[in-house]
Amino acid sequence: MNDYEALLRLQDIDLELMRLSKTLKAMPQQKKIAAIDAAKHKVAGELTKIVGQRKDTEMEIADCEQEHEHLMQKTDEVRATAQAPDADYRQASNIEAQLTHLAKKMEKIGFEHGQKVEALKRLGKAESNARGLEAKLDEERAAQEEAFKRDTADLMARARSLNEERKQMLAALDDDTIRRYDAAFKRFGGLAVERLQGNVPSICRVKLQPSLFSDLKKADAITECPYCHRLLVTQEVAD
Ligand SMILES: [Zn+2]
Repeated sequence: MNDYEALLRLQDIDLELMRLSKTLKAMPQQKKIAAIDAAKHKVAGELTKIVGQRKDTEMEIADCEQEHEHLMQKTDEVRATAQAPDADYRQASNIEAQLTHLAKKMEKIGFEHGQKVEALKRLGKAESNARGLEAKLDEERAAQEEAFKRDTADLMARARSLNEERKQMLAALDDDTIRRYDAAFKRFGGLAVERLQGNVPSICRVKLQPSLFSDLKKADAITECPYCHRLLVTQEVAD
């Protein structure tokens, strides 16, 4: 295969790959997968928040329990002093006041504890709902992926074979031509190579002046269009 034939084939391969890629991106499953991913992202954010709140609440409950334990001990100690045989009236009323104070504190802690336990239940429910939703989204995503694979098997096989052939075309071209092709491909959105048809390049279709035409006929098979600067294959004309 001549280098200009490889270049023309490379151009056709790349244009077909572009069309394939567009078709693949436009498959309905891709839109659904993107929506699922957005929903998963949102759920993950909510879950992080819920788990953080749940852990905080668990710690607060542990603190309440510790504090309650501490108050119980304190109450026992105060009661023990009250049992002392030498306790007089003043001490007794002081002890009474201490016990009342401790009881109030315990009541407050008990109330707080109850509220935290309720909050923990709500958070636990929210967390399990979020995890359930997450699992459902994962399932849906896998189903969409599966459908995408099934519906695009032929297109993917075609893309693989084009990519294989593409490697062979690149191997038949020198580095400078590949570099110029890549640059033109980017610049012209894919339409990088034109052929000289008579004295008209196939894409820009600006008729060549006779002097330019005769220059081009003497140039390499792969040259540059003097008008639009795409790669220009002239070999067929020269032949
Ligand atoms: Zn041109």
